[in-house]
Amino acid sequence: MTEATWPENRQDAHKQHTPVVLVVDDDPSLRLILRHSMEQDNYYVIEASNGLEAIQTTVRQQPDIILMDAVMPEMDGFRATSELLAMREYENTPILIITSLDDDQSVAQAFSCGAVDYITKPINWSVLKHRVRRLLYTAEAERKIRHLAYHDTLTGLPNRLLFMDRMDQAISRAFRANEKFTLLFIDIDHFKVINDSMGHEAGDQLLTSVTQRLQHALRRSDTIARLGGDEFTVILENISELDDVMAVTQNLLDSLSGPLQIGEREVQVGASIGIAIFPEDGTNFGTLLKHADTAMYRAKEQGRNKFEFYKAEMSSAAMYRLELENSLRKAIDKGEFVVYYQPKYELKTRTCWGMEALVRWQHPEEGLISPDDFIPLAEETGIIVKLGRWVIETACEQFSEWKKQGYKIHNLAINISARQFSEQNLPRLFETVLKENGLDARDIEIELTENTLVENHDKAKAILNELHEMGLRIALDDFGTGYASMAYLKDFPIDTVKIDRSFITDIPNNVEDMAIVRAISSLTKALDLCLIAEGAENDTQIEFLKDIGCEQGQGFYWSKPVPAEVFEVEFLRKPNYF
Ligand code: C2E
Ligand code: CA
Ligand code: CA
Repeated sequence: MTEATWPENRQDAHKQHTPVVLVVDDDPSLRLILRHSMEQDNYYVIEASNGLEAIQTTVRQQPDIILMDAVMPEMDGFRATSELLAMREYENTPILIITSLDDDQSVAQAFSCGAVDYITKPINWSVLKHRVRRLLYTAEAERKIRHLAYHDTLTGLPNRLLFMDRMDQAISRAFRANEKFTLLFIDIDHFKVINDSMGHEAGDQLLTSVTQRLQHALRRSDTIARLGGDEFTVILENISELDDVMAVTQNLLDSLSGPLQIGEREVQVGASIGIAIFPEDGTNFGTLLKHADTAMYRAKEQGRNKFEFYKAEMSSAAMYRLELENSLRKAIDKGEFVVYYQPKYELKTRTCWGMEALVRWQHPEEGLISPDDFIPLAEETGIIVKLGRWVIETACEQFSEWKKQGYKIHNLAINISARQFSEQNLPRLFETVLKENGLDARDIEIELTENTLVENHDKAKAILNELHEMGLRIALDDFGTGYASMAYLKDFPIDTVKIDRSFITDIPNNVEDMAIVRAISSLTKALDLCLIAEGAENDTQIEFLKDIGCEQGQGFYWSKPVPAEVFEVEFLRKPNYF
């Protein structure tokens, strides 16, 4: 190191990564020689003349290594060493004890007080230098490893592990002082959409920028950590008055409100924040975190970019939801889903024309769960994409199997959710599955609702056109409950209209329903579409449907949805009803 770059003081030394060595000895002449020897190796040297001073100097100047004389007035080196190492901030500082007492007892004492090594007087200078170099090297390596283990590599923030540690500290401090503190759980709204549509690099950039903004909006003393993904937590010590908590939280939301530059583009982000307060919302790490998370979910439900305080009554509903979501995620791999089939009949010929595939969840504890109880959650969480693919694969394989066995069936209907349009390449998926199973696209019908078309208008149209050109049939499900719009029927390549069962249930008692069904029937005739009624449960309904020219029916009159084995025996082997 040249004269010009020699650090002026300890802060400069730290900045220039010059290691700072604290030399502790009551003998000024020995300190002088030690200083000289260390400076020769380009270390920055500070001094103390006894154990007590060593502690004070360490607290003020944070040396990277301490050369500690054993025997000194006021406080000896052994005691100073154990006291320093008991302090959290200095527990990893390497301390080398210098002792003239070359006896076993003092060596044992040096190690038992926590010193990393010892060296005896008279000092062998080259050994000393060598040791100091090695100790600094290992300390630095350990520091790096510790940093990696306790920090998130992307944002540099404390990770879950360090966060747990900080929470434990906050909890013990608050317990001791009989004080409160606040935990925030922050989740970035729509992060997944950005990540999926703009790529992971953009997602990373977004997280880094979000981190900077959040950090900027907080005090230095607040701990902010990244738990993973787009989830952050903040510990606010000494803040627990609701007004103050609200002000800080709103401040965090505001800090994210301006557009963020991600690559070439500007994106707008928001966050949902859940708040839990120690001790009323929990007295341990797990409970506080769970409750802040629950409150965060609530904030999301309330429309995002909001914060919510935890309230005890949230927990059971939210807990159930969370548990369900967790087990839903694992259910595909655990093979817990089953496809049931419900026959569809041609009313004129009284024969089974095909079937609708309807998924069921065979939950290990709760038994068979109906799709109405998990499809909405699967849609909301995106699980539907994987589940939907599984249903398509499974149903097509079964259908192909039946065709190979020679059963005369002409149509397999599969339900498709909105998210499958936006997040899955349906044409490619069907292409692959049909080819693998040797199926004719014209035998497959997909069922979707008007909502799906409204939500993804242009994209849905392009995809449906492509599927239709491949030969697949398109059915509009639950017709009459949504927009029942003729525009959709003309605008999209629709082959089949499926009247919602709510219009069939009250036939023949409800004349209005009957009028609607009649009107739908003439509409589909005019547009040359196939009409199917679902939810038919009795003779009268079927007679009525046949009278008005409805081609097909599906309902409990014939059968509830049943497992494949039952379907084969009951309907494929006996395709007619009387
Ligand atoms: P959906 O597509 O309208 O399916 C028809 C539902 O009506 C089925 O309920 C069926 O059991 C019921 N149903 C049929 N006939 C009658 C009847 O005569 N009386 C009565 N009371 N009900 C009848 P399920 O199987 O519980 O399915 C409920 C909904 O779950 C389906 O409504 C569909 O929207 C969704 N779903 C089921 N499987 C899948 C799937 O694989 N993917 C997607 N995206 N959604 C699915
Ligand atoms: Ca359906
Ligand atoms: Ca339906």
